Amino acid sequence: METIEHDIVIVGGGAAGLRAAIAAAEVSPQLSIALVSKVYPMRSHTVSAEGGAGAAVGGDDSLDLHAFDTIRGSDYLADQDAVEVFVAESPGEIVQLEHWGCPWSREPDGTIAVRAFGGMSVNRTVFAADKTGFHLLHTLFQTSLKYERIVRHDEFFVTSLLVEDGRCAGVAAIDLLDSEVRCITAKAVILCTGGCGRIFSFTTNAAINTGDGMALAYRAGVPLEDMEFVQYHPTGLPGTGILMTEASRGEGGYLVNNEGRRFLEDYIPSKMELGPRDILSRAIIQEIEKGHAFQGPYGEYVHLDVRHLGERTIDTKLPFVRELVRDFVGIDPVHEPIPVRPVVHYMMGGVDTDLVGRTRLPGLYAAGEAACVSINGANRLGSNSLSECLVFGARVGRKAAEDALDAQPVPGNPVARLAESEQERLVGSYLEKDGGRERIAAIRRDLQAALEKGAGVFRTEESLRDAVMAVRALRERYRAISLDDRGRAFNTELVAALELDNMLDVAETIVTSGLVRRESRGSHTRRDHAVREDDRFLKHSLAFATTDGPRIEYSDVTITRWPPAERKY
Ligand SMILES: Cc1cc2nc3c(=O)[nH]c(=O)nc-3n(C[C@H](O)[C@H](O)[C@H](O)COP(=O)(O)OP(=O)(O)OC[C@H]3O[C@@H](n4cnc5c(N)ncnc54)[C@H](O)[C@@H]3O)c2cc1C
Repeated sequence: METIEHDIVIVGGGAAGLRAAIAAAEVSPQLSIALVSKVYPMRSHTVSAEGGAGAAVGGDDSLDLHAFDTIRGSDYLADQDAVEVFVAESPGEIVQLEHWGCPWSREPDGTIAVRAFGGMSVNRTVFAADKTGFHLLHTLFQTSLKYERIVRHDEFFVTSLLVEDGRCAGVAAIDLLDSEVRCITAKAVILCTGGCGRIFSFTTNAAINTGDGMALAYRAGVPLEDMEFVQYHPTGLPGTGILMTEASRGEGGYLVNNEGRRFLEDYIPSKMELGPRDILSRAIIQEIEKGHAFQGPYGEYVHLDVRHLGERTIDTKLPFVRELVRDFVGIDPVHEPIPVRPVVHYMMGGVDTDLVGRTRLPGLYAAGEAACVSINGANRLGSNSLSECLVFGARVGRKAAEDALDAQPVPGNPVARLAESEQERLVGSYLEKDGGRERIAAIRRDLQAALEKGAGVFRTEESLRDAVMAVRALRERYRAISLDDRGRAFNTELVAALELDNMLDVAETIVTSGLVRRESRGSHTRRDHAVREDDRFLKHSLAFATTDGPRIEYSDVTITRWPPAERKY
């Protein structure tokens, strides 16, 4: 088996992974840094981010205000030390991106423009029209090309972490070209594998967002933190789930029900369309339940109306919205309102890390959406994620680089044996396994339906219990799968099977953590436990893998300067 040696392996070529790679490369020219990605980096989900990146870059903004908005938005579950680091380092990252060539949109006087976003007290979302993710990722990617010591392994799928003597010493990854496992060794492994929205049937997330890194860490004994908190974005296109960016409300768009009324005056009159995502998503579901929604071929929906902004504003500030709505709904938002409904968008939870991205497993680090540091608590504010990827991507890259420079060289290759047994597992359990009657697509569809039904915007003891049982039954069915495609070159069925394995593990942590959190907080809304209960649940959940499914423990929330209070807008 081929062994590839590096000092640092970064899994993931999105915003967090690329930022980490550049930061690590800047620490020392001696370090060899691998960037491993199951898709070409520019195809990472970051590319589809539209609205912008939150940072207190000036005007009437301040770091404390950004911190307070983030903490209040999190329903007081964010770790405040992490939030303070985040807000303090975000503006510097925006300027750094500018210096690397990111074409931020500007005010007429030449300063970087900021737009309004949900749950923020002032305009603080920096943007590049409504294609922010594309420009941000492109800037990071082109910057990473300057460093020869960043070595890319594109279209390599990481299947397991190689852990020896209580230390993560590399990864096993299939080269999709030939489906052979490569043993990639390193002194530090950083997971920047993004989210897992694909566990749900209706999502804005790319097909690759299957929670692989979360599952890898979980199986290696690292807990997944706050997994019950799943963000629904209020405005997705029915049918496709394509996101209508929050910028469309930031720029002044209205949400309207079938009576032609801006119904948010009944739910959050002080903020209206600029309320946080959890509150707006609940409001839309309640309008649907009251019979105030429109009926369409893909279910019920409300209207996002941007007509009053005028063609000029739409074309300069929201050109992508116009393009998407024309292509995927067949209407022009300049003249007609856009049908929208809440859609799964983002995972607040993830791999438990400290402020520099270290996990409890020596040698293993994480950042970006795959990680939970935690700045998002029970509900993320729109535009904080891209900045989080930059700030904590940079931090983890620097820390892993310092640790790799300090690490003692290990003689031989202690993990070669582990990578070889991974190859045998893949052949035995997938490529040459016969007789299974189950098909991947059927299990995946049932998993997505179970999560949508049991762990949606509103949850109950019964719905979550049913979802736990459903996920367990699906895990049984998964044991009986077999592949139709036995080819070795770009075997996408093999990849889909491995992703489904990851989705099942991550899904179980979501529904189990949700079941035992008997309160409502942020995005986790229990009809049977409607209030927030700080006495019992001002705590992070930690899901540990056991042979009987997740074991849930709790850890304290770090409070620095903002004592928990009622979340009021
Ligand atoms: C449609 C949409 C719009 C958004 N808009 C905004 C916005 O305007 N502002 C904002 O702040 N946030 C936004 N978000 C959220 C934000 O974009 C994401 O949280 C963020 O980009 C995640 O970046 P990441 O680097 O953590 O992961 P990703 O960009 O998802 O990258 C994950 C990487 O991991 C790799 N990978 C995964 N599994 C494996 C494996 N097994 N082996 C090898 N490689 C693997 C992938 O190939 C990929 O390169 C949006 C999200 C969506 C879905």
